Amino acid sequence: MERVQRLIAEYFNGSDRHLRFGGVAIADLADQYGTPFYAYDRQVLEQTWSRLRCALPPEFTVYYSVKANPNQRILQFFLSKGCGLEIASVGEFDRALRAGCAPARILFAGPGKTEAELERVLEQNIGAVHIESFREMDRISAIARRLGRSARIALRVNPTEEAQGGAMRMGGKPLPFGIDEECLEAALDRAISDPFLSVRGIHLFIGTQILDPAILLAQYRKGIAIAQRAADRLQAPLQTVDFGGGLGIPYFPGEQSLNLEAFRQGLVELMADVRSDPRLTGTQFMVEPGRYLVGEAGIYVVRVNDIKYSRGKKFIIVDGGLHHHLTASGNLGQVIKRNYPVAILNKLNAEARESADIVGPLCTPLDALARNVMLPPAEVGDWVGVFQSGAYARSASPLGFLSHPAPPEIWVEAGKSTLLCPRGQYDTI
Ligand SMILES: *Cc1c(COP(=O)(O)O)cnc(C)c1O
Repeated sequence: MERVQRLIAEYFNGSDRHLRFGGVAIADLADQYGTPFYAYDRQVLEQTWSRLRCALPPEFTVYYSVKANPNQRILQFFLSKGCGLEIASVGEFDRALRAGCAPARILFAGPGKTEAELERVLEQNIGAVHIESFREMDRISAIARRLGRSARIALRVNPTEEAQGGAMRMGGKPLPFGIDEECLEAALDRAISDPFLSVRGIHLFIGTQILDPAILLAQYRKGIAIAQRAADRLQAPLQTVDFGGGLGIPYFPGEQSLNLEAFRQGLVELMADVRSDPRLTGTQFMVEPGRYLVGEAGIYVVRVNDIKYSRGKKFIIVDGGLHHHLTASGNLGQVIKRNYPVAILNKLNAEARESADIVGPLCTPLDALARNVMLPPAEVGDWVGVFQSGAYARSASPLGFLSHPAPPEIWVEAGKSTLLCPRGQYDTI
């Protein structure tokens, strides 16, 4: 509840008893579009975007990570801010192109890229492919040879040390991602000797949901050290150093927002240390956040359909669940389920005095949006909102499980709403 109040104070002013989302009463959205639905608030995107942009030095470019939320309107928002896009499949490549992104502003990272996928993006002259294995280099080289031009690549490096404190830790251990740091020189030599591969830089992505700026900064320092080694081997300055994503947002009690002022300060110091290094002259530094940029801008809204007690425990049964929002149900990326910030959206200032589980309509005990959460007494017809549902929510959910229609996506901007994706459709039309 405390987290919900903070979010409302920060982003959703004008709410009293009823939530106003992007200046629109939640009841109006529910009446117009029905429940369950996802809504995204442009103003929140603006706020988080400018906050992050202001923390980054001018030499930094942002590549929005499409998998966090691949909705067209969201992609267009970031393109309009001058961002590039980071993709992990040809499906995301197509979405990026459809949103109006120039291929030169797209990066393709991720393990297991198929021959057909590589062919497709290289034909379209993608900005760069981030290499995850030696075989991938061979494949790209062969395709580039057929196309008669060299392919721009960056080496994704799996570093020797681990960044602590993220939800998912990548680095310092065996991984399917990237080339082990121990093989950096060998990978560079392989690429340098190949006229069809043009090495632009290195890429590092160590973990997601990091809330401590010191961990991010340690990771970026590690990236710089690897970049310097790579430039020595290439005997040329690097064109790009990509520090990856991973900036977190607080979901759970006890978590603090990422301290962007400390992050900004650390980056100023980092840049001061490298500015005079000839190996990093003219280098474009990149970050590719997903969650941080969109997580707080989304809400998932469901309607209370039934309330029942079983052996003294209260269950609030709503019309959506894990098939729409797997992460909130705790079945993606969590070992022990913790509750996302949830509230009864038409009883915001009522006293939270009853503990209940909020469960969905699927025939599995896994289908709980929140467990043992303190709420005002709920009634059939109330609306429940799961906040911070802009990232890894709808698109990370098994929308086909139990054959309920996929929830619509709604864009809210300056007191007006627009339907982005109708109910029952998977993708934006
Ligand atoms: C998923 C992903 C990201 C985005 O991660 P966040 O934690 O959402 O910032 C960035 N880069 C790559 C390569 C990814 O796979």
